Amino acid sequence: MAASTGTEIGSPGTPVDQRPKAPRRSLGVVFYLSASWIALLVFFALFRDLLPLRDPEALGIRTREVMAFEGPGLNAWFGGDGSGRDLFARVVQGARPALILGLTVTICGGLLGTMVGITAGYLKGKVDAVTSILIDIALAFPGLVLLIAVRATFGNSMTVFIVLFSLTSIPAYARIVRGATFALAEREFVDAASGMGATKRRILVRELAPNIALPVLSFAFIGFALVIVAEGGLAFIGLSLDQVTWGQLIAEGAGDISNHGHVALIPSTVMFLTILAFNLVGDGLRSLWAPREVATQRRLRVAGEHRSSTTSAALHVADLHTTLHTPAGDVRAVDGVSLSVQPGEALGVVGESGSGKTMVLRSIVGAFALADVTRSGTVEVDGVDMLRSAPDEIKHALGTKIGMVSQNPLTALNPVRRIETQIVEPMMVHRDMTRAAARERALDLLRQVGIPAPERRLREYPHQLSGGMRQRVTIAIALANEPGLLLADEPTTALDVTVQDQILTLLSGLQRERNMAMVLVTHDLAVVKGFTDRVAIVYAGEVIESGPTDEIFVDPKHRYTVALMQSMPNLELPSHSALTTIEGRPPSLIDPPAGCRFSPRCSAAQDICSTEAPVRSGDDHHWFRCHFPADVTQVAAPTRREDD
Ligand code: SF4
Repeated sequence: MAASTGTEIGSPGTPVDQRPKAPRRSLGVVFYLSASWIALLVFFALFRDLLPLRDPEALGIRTREVMAFEGPGLNAWFGGDGSGRDLFARVVQGARPALILGLTVTICGGLLGTMVGITAGYLKGKVDAVTSILIDIALAFPGLVLLIAVRATFGNSMTVFIVLFSLTSIPAYARIVRGATFALAEREFVDAASGMGATKRRILVRELAPNIALPVLSFAFIGFALVIVAEGGLAFIGLSLDQVTWGQLIAEGAGDISNHGHVALIPSTVMFLTILAFNLVGDGLRSLWAPREVATQRRLRVAGEHRSSTTSAALHVADLHTTLHTPAGDVRAVDGVSLSVQPGEALGVVGESGSGKTMVLRSIVGAFALADVTRSGTVEVDGVDMLRSAPDEIKHALGTKIGMVSQNPLTALNPVRRIETQIVEPMMVHRDMTRAAARERALDLLRQVGIPAPERRLREYPHQLSGGMRQRVTIAIALANEPGLLLADEPTTALDVTVQDQILTLLSGLQRERNMAMVLVTHDLAVVKGFTDRVAIVYAGEVIESGPTDEIFVDPKHRYTVALMQSMPNLELPSHSALTTIEGRPPSLIDPPAGCRFSPRCSAAQDICSTEAPVRSGDDHHWFRCHFPADVTQVAAPTRREDD
């Protein structure tokens, strides 16, 4: 695996003026006002006993200091309640249980919920499925009924409330953290850590947890407010804590609200402002989430700028793993693939359907039909790290350094847009060309790919072209930005057999003429033989043999390679000879066979084949993974189908 040779950001060797500056973050006046309100409450809760406040329980009828239902004024800022107790002192007294309850529940419920959510979100699979069901059940449970039942059974102490509220808040935290973890786990920096051998625990603690912290903190403030609301609601129905709370004060004053509204309205207002403040602070913190992502991207971008390529290859893939997370389980579609292609070189990637050869190509460009996919390892295209670079850098590389030719030109082209638009736009976007200049180049490209009357073709729509013409157009689009790497995924599969050779000849000619590297994915060994310099045989998500095309055709080593060759038409055999077939099907990549993955289908398999994975043998030039390599000096070369 390629190691970065660049200076890491923040390392001692990084000049201070080159370190990425933190983005300027503005939280706004409302955030600071809200935070100030919370700070004021904390101050009163902490230093209540040291402040020159009246005794909150002292009855005005005795002290004569505050009259029953006295209105707010200089004598009593918040007025008095029905017993002549100072409402300000009582509201201040209620701040402490509110903050203790909210803080403790937030810490306990938040921590437990975060642990559950981050574990489920990262491990996915069965752990996540079971956790999700439990979360759904917990959230569907009528919490108020539980609160009332537990409160009635275990009393109204602070401990009971803390345990009760903590347990009921876990599912909400777990769900939020799980969602955030899902998104983060697919980010390149997590793949990078995984590819560099970090354990799951380390990834959870070092990579994911710090990024989860901010959204959790944001929700914690909102959760804090919800705890205060819940306590107030319980107090209102007579299930309050065993000490003075705001909910209790509101409940006490509710009966006299028509004549002495301040008794209920003032604690209600304090509670409302507190809930609002916690929500606004939570929202403010959540707004930092996006800048943090930007900061991460900037860090990656600068790191990418400092990273120098470890190879001169147009494409360098090392220990690439791609896992598709499906409801049926994790599919290890690409499992430790390494390959490289030099400028001017054509590499054939060969395998039968379901072998994973197309997934190798998709993993290079990061294009997957499924959303839940993780990649790790190294993919460098002309020195650009396609897994760890900033999204903009990857996007630019995809648009300028890589040309793609897909299986089916009909689906590759937009049916409702003219050919001109589809060729011209990539050049205007990635090369800042004017429309006129891009159009001139589009005409030139159409001529190069052998399309007659290019002026007319530019004005046409894809359905007006034949299959071969459409594929020529997709080749023109692929070449538009002069990429150094051409990725062709079974480029002739959907075409009439009579034009397959023309398209392959065209592709091969353009590739050599422009000194491009080309990866040609195909199931057809005859295509590989005719148009590639080297070949990588893929089976069950792994490259099982790789070497120069000529050598592999003369001296294949892996039994699967031999079987593939024997299954191809051979003109040297008597006519009407039955083609050899490979028994069985490629294995499931959710739970591939132990040892050699080809062993269930291999006629040469022995006991060791199903227990020990064969290590790489041969040399860098031509290598294979087989315990009992074939001893053949000549395997009949397959012939092109049109020659049959
Ligand atoms: S390792 Fe064994 S099972 Fe696999 S291809 Fe070689 S001989 Fe066959």
